[in-house]
Amino acid sequence: MAILEVGGLTKHFDIRPGLLGRLLSGKRRQTIKAVDGVSFTLEEGTILGLAGESGCGKSTTCMMIAKLHEPTAGTIRFKGRDIAGLDRAGLRDYRLAVQLIFQDPYESLNPRFTVFDLVAEGPRALGIWSREETARRVLEALSLVGLKPEEYKDRFPHQMSGGERQRVGIACALILEPELVIADEPLSMLDVSIRAGILDLLRDLSARLNFSCIYVSHDLSILSNISERLLVMYLGMAMEIGPTDRVVRNPQHPYARALVEAVPVPDPRYKRPIPAIRGEIARPIDPPPGCRFAARCPQAMDACRRDPAPAMREVGPGHFAACHLLDMDAPDSGTAARAL
Ligand code: SF4
Repeated sequence: MAILEVGGLTKHFDIRPGLLGRLLSGKRRQTIKAVDGVSFTLEEGTILGLAGESGCGKSTTCMMIAKLHEPTAGTIRFKGRDIAGLDRAGLRDYRLAVQLIFQDPYESLNPRFTVFDLVAEGPRALGIWSREETARRVLEALSLVGLKPEEYKDRFPHQMSGGERQRVGIACALILEPELVIADEPLSMLDVSIRAGILDLLRDLSARLNFSCIYVSHDLSILSNISERLLVMYLGMAMEIGPTDRVVRNPQHPYARALVEAVPVPDPRYKRPIPAIRGEIARPIDPPPGCRFAARCPQAMDACRRDPAPAMREVGPGHFAACHLLDMDAPDSGTAARAL
């Protein structure tokens, strides 16, 4: 059963360009199309990986699901209920059920709070448990994330390593027993040597506590390790979605293929193909019609720039991609895919 159904989710920001921007664009107002018609479902108890470069709309999508941004259009249904119509009590329940794990454990923890107070902050603010019950659950949450309560509860954030701080961040999210956890690049600020431990912890906790999860990352090797389904986004739009194994082994969209080919392969004899795509992701300000990826796509045709953006088409069981050139027999992605 789907715990989350996202349909046509859109977030546009109107901006007034500065003098130079007005001279270059000839417009007094411009629109940043941060997210543009993204649809997906998340099955209960599973992990969906959200992949793409910085600026592709991953975080804005998560902010809308967490109700920290209001969508410009589209729907978000949680357990069958449209979250746009929640009353005060419904909103409170939703905020309990959906928790965020932030990217930066250095910035997200109040440096003046002890670990105990950091983890207790959510329950105290919501007034859901007695003092004794909150204390009991704080200690339990610390044990759950692998921190000995007696050793850590009185520490301040600056007295811990990055990995320990991220464990505290995870405890802050899990103490409220969420049904959906949104983890926005939780490893990106951590040293490579401790990433595997935090990744294993999240995967283990998701299975033990049976929460659903949206895991955001630009790193396909992490997503292929943790997620059952994978959604690839580019410039605010969904390019490909499907079972992680299928997307990684047989990516259908040129952008998804390029992401797979960019994954490091631990084989000194492997000759990496020359990158097919060049340049940086563009800013999503008044993007031109047609396929958003056309400016960087090595296979772009006139129709890609002229016709409306390609719609999602099913290319295999539960596997969809949006490209005019869809080919059911696209070749295996080779060594790079096998390394994931
Ligand atoms: Fe490339 Fe055209 Fe496919 Fe877009 S629709 S990914 S530009 S081939």
